[in-house]
Amino acid sequence: EPSLAPNFIRQIIANDLKTDKHKGRVATRFPPEPNGYLHIGHAKSICLNFGMAIENNGTCNLRFDDTNPEKESDEYVQSIMRDVQWLGFSWSELRHASDYFEQLYGYAVVLIEKGLAYVDSLSAEQIRAYRGTLTEPGKPSPDRDRPIAENLDLFQRMRAGEFADGQYVLRAKIDMASPNINMRDPAIYRIRRVHHQRTGDAWCIYPMYDYTHCISDALEHITHSLCTLEFEDHRPLYDWVLEQVETPSHPQQIEFARLQLEYTIVSKRKLNLLVTEKHVNGWDDPRMPTLAGLRRAGVTPKAIRDFCERIGLTKQNSWIEMGVLEYCIREDLNENALRVMAVLAPLRVVITNYPDGQTENLEISNHPQRHELGKRSVPFAKTILIEQDDFAENPPPKYKRLVLGEEVRLRGSYVIRCHEVVKDADGNITELRCSYDPDTLGKNPEGRKVKGVIHWVSEAHALPAEIRLYNRLFSVPQPDNEANFLDALNPNSLEVLSDCRIEASLAEATGEHRYQFERTGYFCLDTVDSVDGKKVFNRTVTLRDGWVK
Ligand code: ATP
Ligand code: MG
Ligand code: MG
Repeated sequence: EPSLAPNFIRQIIANDLKTDKHKGRVATRFPPEPNGYLHIGHAKSICLNFGMAIENNGTCNLRFDDTNPEKESDEYVQSIMRDVQWLGFSWSELRHASDYFEQLYGYAVVLIEKGLAYVDSLSAEQIRAYRGTLTEPGKPSPDRDRPIAENLDLFQRMRAGEFADGQYVLRAKIDMASPNINMRDPAIYRIRRVHHQRTGDAWCIYPMYDYTHCISDALEHITHSLCTLEFEDHRPLYDWVLEQVETPSHPQQIEFARLQLEYTIVSKRKLNLLVTEKHVNGWDDPRMPTLAGLRRAGVTPKAIRDFCERIGLTKQNSWIEMGVLEYCIREDLNENALRVMAVLAPLRVVITNYPDGQTENLEISNHPQRHELGKRSVPFAKTILIEQDDFAENPPPKYKRLVLGEEVRLRGSYVIRCHEVVKDADGNITELRCSYDPDTLGKNPEGRKVKGVIHWVSEAHALPAEIRLYNRLFSVPQPDNEANFLDALNPNSLEVLSDCRIEASLAEATGEHRYQFERTGYFCLDTVDSVDGKKVFNRTVTLRDGWVK
């Protein structure tokens, strides 16, 4: 793993430890809303929050920010827990904002009693109209000076279910003229008769995010509440709430830039749209930037952690090139993937001077450098398959593969020479007839150099496979900036090759392994769609830079 570079959050935490600001503790939390699957942007936040805890012997909670029941579900809760663990982290405690509903209600009553919150009968639309603009102060609601006793009574009746959804809201009474619009009497409770995936129908009022988040942090004795930049303008409200009510601690909110990754989208709402409108095959489609999608594509947790460290942490929003993520994926897979052979577009080669019916089991290394990864046995026989691309009748300059009359090395096997090209009635090449040099196994031929090396499989021993090649999901670098991001979807993001042949050793392939199909790319088994007799492999990434757009 790369060495840990200094960044402004590491610096703040180191300082706080030095000055004993939080009694030597570091406590963070990762607070997802369970309204979708986690994506690569969340990974940045996960690595940061868990990372700071690990580096400083601190704690990190997983807290579900479950205050919007209409969009949340247990499916999302389960997927989030799975993905955080898959990334390699374990939380100190599992918490839910809904654990605090009773306490949050109690603190709201305290605010009312202190004259710092009121029940407002304005509609959402009116509240917006009264709120003013950046250049114009807001107008107070006619209910702003409702007597405390009346507020207490109404708020209690809101909870008891006496009013319709939207009839009232509870608002903090702060400053309708504040230059910060978030401070112009924000709503802190609303009426919503929606079943909650944890608390069921116990509540018909739900607290708002800004009010809930700071109190939840404080109740968990979080020291550093790390969040993305769009919450910078909410920090005064975060601090205001904690100053008015007596919570056991007052965490420090620190903002950092969100991850924006080129050629993709990191917004649960938009990703949800891709799923529900079936532009992709579910949240775990390998083209999705979700952790579930990346996992299914064969990306490793280590590559994602490495990526999150490498992109660093700043307070400036910027776009990260897809190449950075791909680089991290290749680094890991180059070191750890097992080498195997697979032929994506097969062309039959008959080795005319090889004995009929004979099979040789060649021992081939699983990794060119890491010999501890062992060898596997690869059957070689008279009829083999090579890539159609690896033979050319009219070779372009510098072509180092097989041509008529010349030699090429079969990876881990013999040198062959092509003598004859067999074609069908339409002129398509159907077969090559070659000879092999029996004295070239594991050594160079006498007196001549063979430059090209190609991969192959034995036709009789190879297994059929479907191979899925994924390209970028979007054809522009910043689909978020398009009028409609759906118009920027890449129509060629998935290419399915259904008639591939893979070497026999892949009969044992599991979802845990990563493979380099020699000369072709990095692949992993698709454990969802593979069936007996036809395995499916997903391309994780190409061998070198150069995505097809
Ligand atoms: P989305 O818009 O995708 O729903 P969100 O911020 O609303 O994102 P949450 O579930 O609230 O999603 O996010 C949990 C945590 O992850 C928050 O602290 C949030 O700031 C952080 N996070 C979300 N997206 C990113 C991102 N792109 N880069 C870094 N952190 C992110
Ligand atoms: Mg959110
Ligand atoms: Mg959001």
